[in-house]
Amino acid sequence: MTVSKLGRSIRESATLALNERAGLLASQGQPVIHLGGGEPKNKAPLGAIVGAAARLASGDVKYVPADGTVSLKRAIVRYTEEHYGRVVDTENVIVSSGAKQALFNILVALVDPQDEVVILSPYWVSYPEMVRMVYGHPVIVTPEDGSFVPRLEEVEAAFGSATKALIVNTPNNPSGAVYPARLVASLVELCEERGVRLVMDDIYHRLVFDGVRPASAYAFTERDVDESNVIVVNGVSKLYGMTGFRVGWTVAPRDLVAVMKNVQAQTTSCPAAVSMAAAEAALTGVQASVENLRLAIQNQRDVLLQELLSFEGVRVAKPEGTFYSLPDFRAYSDDSEELSRLLLEKALVVTVPGKEFGAEGHLRISFCGSTKDITEGIRRIRWALDPSAPNEIVIGDRRRVRDWL
Ligand code: PMP
Repeated sequence: MTVSKLGRSIRESATLALNERAGLLASQGQPVIHLGGGEPKNKAPLGAIVGAAARLASGDVKYVPADGTVSLKRAIVRYTEEHYGRVVDTENVIVSSGAKQALFNILVALVDPQDEVVILSPYWVSYPEMVRMVYGHPVIVTPEDGSFVPRLEEVEAAFGSATKALIVNTPNNPSGAVYPARLVASLVELCEERGVRLVMDDIYHRLVFDGVRPASAYAFTERDVDESNVIVVNGVSKLYGMTGFRVGWTVAPRDLVAVMKNVQAQTTSCPAAVSMAAAEAALTGVQASVENLRLAIQNQRDVLLQELLSFEGVRVAKPEGTFYSLPDFRAYSDDSEELSRLLLEKALVVTVPGKEFGAEGHLRISFCGSTKDITEGIRRIRWALDPSAPNEIVIGDRRRVRDWL
């Protein structure tokens, strides 16, 4: 029995493998701390739960239109006007089962075999894999200066005659960087000049700190949405802490939305009706939960930074958004996978190897968990790596001795 070359070529998610190992250790009673997470800890907003419950109670849980319910699409139109200053039509909107499915459908709709899609490093792990799944070529731009923000010239140099799209994620997973508005403006201009679609993955766009404002690509184009190269992806997963509901969306020219709708109709029929009711209630209800989450996460970032700044040898750029940091651990190891494994086995702390995101030598450390976990997690990491840290530590109720340095 064989499987396809494509199927075989899709990489196993290292995060998943680490999570499985962490789950196994935790099930054996080991006090594992998770600093690898990609979702906030808060409960879904009450309005969302009530909205979902009402839909369930009605018993009317059937197929809905392939591109989402009209009422949710209207809520997204209002969201786009409020947060992007853009008036769009419901025909410019398609709801999908998470921003992830939205991105995949965009790529199916845009990319022919051998077409190139430009991705900026450090990047979210799924972009290159998704591009490969549609038989395209991911072209990775790595900032030469080692920073987390590319220069325009570096992006421009990656564009060629086969370039179909550029994917931009700001605020950025995994670095927490927010790209400056002038860079976003230049990228819009570049894409318009070169006829390249600009896919803005805005899934973290309101999770920003210290008064930083994420730039909306729409602010830098005069073109009508239907004529524009800009495609915006967003969703309720991160802002509302509703990852399990699986609702994301795309705002794009209506001809592209129509193609994406066909793709979605033939693959998943439609997003889940109960989840869409929850998302609609989240978007139209009291918005206090978003600000509460943002403030809590900003506070957790400060705790993490304080811990990391006193960690000899570790260099960290201050995250301006998301709930991820990407500290440089090269003073301790150049192999982030090995380092991550060591930290899990010895210190019982889950981190994600930077290699996954095109940032070898770094570890992605999330600050969406509790401040207690952050403080304790960094204390353990320091013990495991830093020779100047005390040789012994108590983890859970066991005393452990460091014997590998
Ligand atoms: N884009 C980025 C950059 C992400 O980090 C994630 C979630 N980890 C997604 C998209 C997917 O979000 P969703 O849960 O809505 O599919």
